[in-house]
Amino acid sequence: MKVPFVDLTEQHREIRHEIDSVIREIIDQSCFVGGAHVETFERDFAAYCGTRYAVACKSGTDALKLALMAVGVGRGEEVITVPHTFIATVEAITAVGAHPVFVDIDKATYQMSPDRVADFLEGECRVEKDGSVVNKNSKRPVVALLPVHLYGLPSDMEPLLALADRFGLKVVEDAAQAHGASYHLEGEEKRTGTFGQAGAFSFYPGKNLGALGEGGAVVTDEQNRDQDMRLWRDHGQSEKYVHVSADGWNMRLDSLQCAVLSLKLKRLDEWNEKRRQVAQWYRERLQNDDRIVLPVEPGGRKHVYHLFVVRVPNRHQVREELSRQGIGVGLHYPISLHLQKAYQHLGYRPGDLPASEAVAESILSLPMFPHLTEEQVDYVCRTLTAALG
Ligand SMILES: *Cc1c(COP(=O)(O)O)cnc(C)c1O
Repeated sequence: MKVPFVDLTEQHREIRHEIDSVIREIIDQSCFVGGAHVETFERDFAAYCGTRYAVACKSGTDALKLALMAVGVGRGEEVITVPHTFIATVEAITAVGAHPVFVDIDKATYQMSPDRVADFLEGECRVEKDGSVVNKNSKRPVVALLPVHLYGLPSDMEPLLALADRFGLKVVEDAAQAHGASYHLEGEEKRTGTFGQAGAFSFYPGKNLGALGEGGAVVTDEQNRDQDMRLWRDHGQSEKYVHVSADGWNMRLDSLQCAVLSLKLKRLDEWNEKRRQVAQWYRERLQNDDRIVLPVEPGGRKHVYHLFVVRVPNRHQVREELSRQGIGVGLHYPISLHLQKAYQHLGYRPGDLPASEAVAESILSLPMFPHLTEEQVDYVCRTLTAALG
């Protein structure tokens, strides 16, 4: 049996008629940039997340950059984030001229650890008379918190928001892997991307909500931020050839992608439920094997399983054996970002962020997509158990 790591053909087969007809309609009208499909998708996606506004853009990486710009993160400032994430999280910080500060993750959930954030803010920062926070080592202002809802599990937002509040930090969420995931805050179930001042999403094809190519969006509740992002994604134009901002760029998402995303958005909850069912099948088969560490879903949080990540001993051999048996596996991510060559200049050393490093060495992402069958899961689990010896 062959089990691909991800297979998007089934999800497209399911809605192929609708996709074909909307593509035909757009070609007939030949209106490819801007217009009703973009506006409709933005309205629908904001409503889905539970925010007032959504701004569609070219990619999740652009979404993160726009979100940081929108909350006012600027040159020479520091943003607290995690090293256990996809590099785009950190690229966005450096793209706005800011500096990343890495804090370690919680080893059980793989998310930003509120305790480590507190350690950094309380131990390594100084609060000035005007309330601003300065990193005692670098002397730079610390202005924002950028948690990543990694693998589809929301980060522990309540203590993170309390810290942000106490230290006057902005919060930008990287929700690129967590469309539709939710977290209970003060008795209310809220979707990821809506806790801070801006939340960034990616519509890369394999994400829980994926375009037929690249795409992204930022959600926010604040009108001025929505307006700013609309300017920046379109060359700083307030009207055609009238440029009111020098921070503009072309980050627009085209109407074909928005039209397809609108169609898929209607299925997102159903597809997320399918992912949760797949996760349940994995759990039933693997939970009694104490060599395997399964993903956790703490109370009050809804996981949408963008990835199903386990930790195993001898990861390297297990991975090779699964590949040999026709099973697609992934590593998300094998090198903690603070140890990447790209960030050498930040001066981190092996051992500085032990949870992130230990996790990077032992994780393995098993096949996960909505249309995975129980037979396929069964085969993956049997092969995995055998590979562990
Ligand atoms: C996919 C991803 C991004 C970047 O999104 P792109 O659309 O590929 O630019 C950012 N952060 C995380 C955690 C991601 O998984």
